[in-house]
Amino acid sequence: MSTTPENSDTPESVAPAQVAAPAAASAEVLFRDFGLDPRIQAAIDAIGYLRPTPIQAQAIPLVLAGRDVMGAAQTGTGKTAAFTLPILQQLVAHESTSTSPARHPVRALILAPTRELADQISVNVTQYAAKTALRSTVVFGGVDMNPQTDALRRGVEILIATPGRLLDHVQSKNVALGQVSILVLDEADRMLDMGFLPDLQRIVNLLPKQRQTLLFSATFSPEIRKLAASFQKNPVTVEVARQNATATNITQRIYAVSEDDKRSCLVDLLRAEDPRQVIVFSNSKLETGRLARFLEKEGFAADAIHGDKSQNERLAALQAFKDGKVEVLVATDVAARGLDIAELPCVINFDVPFNPEDYVHRIGRTGRAGMHGRALTLVTPGDSRNFAQIEKLINRSVEVATWTPSRPRRPREDGFGERSDRGERGERYGRDRDSARDSSREGGRSRGDAYGGRSSYTPRPAPVDPFFTQPYEPSAPVDGSAAGTPAASGTKPGAPRVRRPVAALLGGRKS
Ligand code: AMP
Repeated sequence: MSTTPENSDTPESVAPAQVAAPAAASAEVLFRDFGLDPRIQAAIDAIGYLRPTPIQAQAIPLVLAGRDVMGAAQTGTGKTAAFTLPILQQLVAHESTSTSPARHPVRALILAPTRELADQISVNVTQYAAKTALRSTVVFGGVDMNPQTDALRRGVEILIATPGRLLDHVQSKNVALGQVSILVLDEADRMLDMGFLPDLQRIVNLLPKQRQTLLFSATFSPEIRKLAASFQKNPVTVEVARQNATATNITQRIYAVSEDDKRSCLVDLLRAEDPRQVIVFSNSKLETGRLARFLEKEGFAADAIHGDKSQNERLAALQAFKDGKVEVLVATDVAARGLDIAELPCVINFDVPFNPEDYVHRIGRTGRAGMHGRALTLVTPGDSRNFAQIEKLINRSVEVATWTPSRPRRPREDGFGERSDRGERGERYGRDRDSARDSSREGGRSRGDAYGGRSSYTPRPAPVDPFFTQPYEPSAPVDGSAAGTPAASGTKPGAPRVRRPVAALLGGRKS
């Protein structure tokens, strides 16, 4: 590792750690080598982490040294602890048992794109800080602002937030950001995908220029690099091997089925695999709910999670799943993004994702922290080209398994039958057919739009939950209280939306 950057536009780089499982422990480094405060070390020991993951081994010393870091790591690599532990270490010098809010200014701000991710980070921060007097809280949209306001006004050193709701609180003067010394942008690529750039720019303008900025992103696109160049100083780049299909602890299989047989096949797989818990991915919000109800009728404890559900419904479904009350969680990509469910043994792709990258994200829900996982995908003839793109992305062929229906099958016209070898695949999968357009799909695109009539595949942007795509607009208070709320400070309820000027950062026009 070099230590001095040649210039501020060229981040230093730490060689990627070549690991089969992203969260696999790093053999050489121990947590105690970081010299963390004994109470932070005790929290790590209590959770049961034995060794730092590769991203932790690389990032923690750099963050402790006060460096800006660009981390290429997805959820599941242990990146939350990679930034949280050194942040806590830096903040323990400021901890106070005083009840005065003035003694608990926000010193570390962690921004995340989704409510679920923000909530998960908050849970982790609480665990890691449990034995210190440092306070933290999380704020995200879609729920009552008042409890968040109370927590902010009592004072917290670590604030985890989604950008829009944070700006609501800033506008309501519930929180001041003038003492923030550490900023974390988590899943920065997702934040850009979701149109949060103007909000990020506004938030960064409220922070002291003298600060440490940590940016985590699954990919380093040119836009992410521009963001880093704008928000960071001489960042060091750390990377761990992508959480992809090279992870040997995830068994991947595909089942060739007709569209009509998908539900029967799913039920048979669930019964045969007998997973304690499984996430079933569907491409459509409508199908997600229908599938969950169908599975309930088949005797499974099932629930659905998608972008049209309220925040409370989503959190309740997630909690029920984590508690083991729900066995099968049917989810869209958007709703499942960033979910961290420990030891998930199996994911099933009821639909092949439209975007090959989403396949990698989906199967990354299983096989975490070195555990063994299974990723099963139902592939119809219409999915052939799409699945071929997935295999190209992951650079491997996925094993084809034969599904033997447990119930008599309806006569089929698609020619599917027993498959003996992969050589048949091209023929059997190679027939594209018009797929029914599904307007309920998350993000609103249809398969026909994405692939119809194309001779070559063009990557499509990931589906986006419309909840997140709007530019920042102060939300009306959920409980209707007026004092100090955005509505009271200038935005009339029901007034036409005022688009805020897009920052010039990524080529938007200054106004
Ligand atoms: P993250 O990528 O931060 O969402 O973390 C993914 C999962 O790995 C979480 O369940 C963490 O609790 C877990 N984890 C984080 N660090 C370690 C570690 N050093 N050893 C084992 N598990 C870890």
